[in-house]
Amino acid sequence: MAKDYYGVLGVAQGASDQEIKRAYRKLARELHPDVNPSEEERFKEVSTAYEVLSDPEKRRIVDAGGDPLSSAGSGGFGGGGGFGDVFEAFFGGGGGGGFSGGFGGGGRGPRSRVQPGEPALVTMQLDLEECASGVNKEITVDTAILCDVCTGKGTNGKSKPRTCDTCKGAGEIQAVQRSFLGQVMTVRQCPTCMGVGEVIPDPCHKCGGDGRVRSRRTMTVKIPAGIAGGMRVRLTGQGEVGPGGGPAGDLYVEVKERRHDTFIRDEDDLHCTIKVPIADAALGSELTINTIFDDPVTVTIPAGTQPGQVVQLRGQGMPHLNTGVRGTLHAHLDVVVPTKLDAAATETLKRFREQTIDDEVELVSASMVSSGAGGGLFSRLRNAFAGR
Ligand SMILES: [Zn+2]
Ligand SMILES: [Zn+2]
Repeated sequence: MAKDYYGVLGVAQGASDQEIKRAYRKLARELHPDVNPSEEERFKEVSTAYEVLSDPEKRRIVDAGGDPLSSAGSGGFGGGGGFGDVFEAFFGGGGGGGFSGGFGGGGRGPRSRVQPGEPALVTMQLDLEECASGVNKEITVDTAILCDVCTGKGTNGKSKPRTCDTCKGAGEIQAVQRSFLGQVMTVRQCPTCMGVGEVIPDPCHKCGGDGRVRSRRTMTVKIPAGIAGGMRVRLTGQGEVGPGGGPAGDLYVEVKERRHDTFIRDEDDLHCTIKVPIADAALGSELTINTIFDDPVTVTIPAGTQPGQVVQLRGQGMPHLNTGVRGTLHAHLDVVVPTKLDAAATETLKRFREQTIDDEVELVSASMVSSGAGGGLFSRLRNAFAGR
């Protein structure tokens, strides 16, 4: 029994390619297993329906009351890896979908069998180090490429397309329908030729007449230094080849930035935290840290460093994407109080406390008074401790 592919996508039998694509994308987004794991079966069903209805040859079979998938194994795209796979679900937002206007519902007469290809989008995870220095990365993309057997013509050998019998080459069918307004003339796309005005009686055995086949390719993408998460690298003409071997769309590689253990990025600036032992903070010191470029760099800790103080290291941030000028590394100094003290250290600190206690009380009292709180009580408490 023939399956109701139109029903699965929720479109009418005369729906245009664009309507079918739109319905598919909407459903694919809702049902995609990454979003909705419980709907996997329906997602497969929807993908299969789109695979069938987006292929002029298969759709013709459906429109003639048949099921192109029931006569299994006819080669071409069949079964699993056809059009409308997971890839499609990532389209939509951003720069995509630019072509829709050019064909479809617009003018009279048959549309061209050759259509421009869709853009493709892949994402790529990058470490902050890779963003900082730039990197060449291999990606594997699954897109439509030109059919090498028919070079996009869709015909088998020397056979030629011929004028569609159903629409006599017009690409559309006029019909008179009765409605409550009286008789209405409707025009819809010819279901036999999908509006092209001609059919391929002897289609290419490799691509089934579409002029393109799916292919998995590996290519190297040059990622420039300074790139940031959310940016896209465009590879012109590396997207989907269009129906009938139409010019390929562009391939977009969208960058996702992995969290870094040490550095937090703020555009071209970086932030990190350096733990400074309490003695180094008090006496001043020099510490060595590794930058995002894996260069050791010396950080000068001034004597009397307070917790939260920031040392700025110019030129140790991220390179600017266009100019290459590096931003600033902000090193936030975290003064570390020791939690374990041996007997000697304890003695030293006690002596230190005795020597400095008067300054300390003065400091505390002054700050408490200035903030309007009960400085008197607090300094009395401190005095009590000091006397022990
Ligand atoms: Zn036709
Ligand atoms: Zn072919």
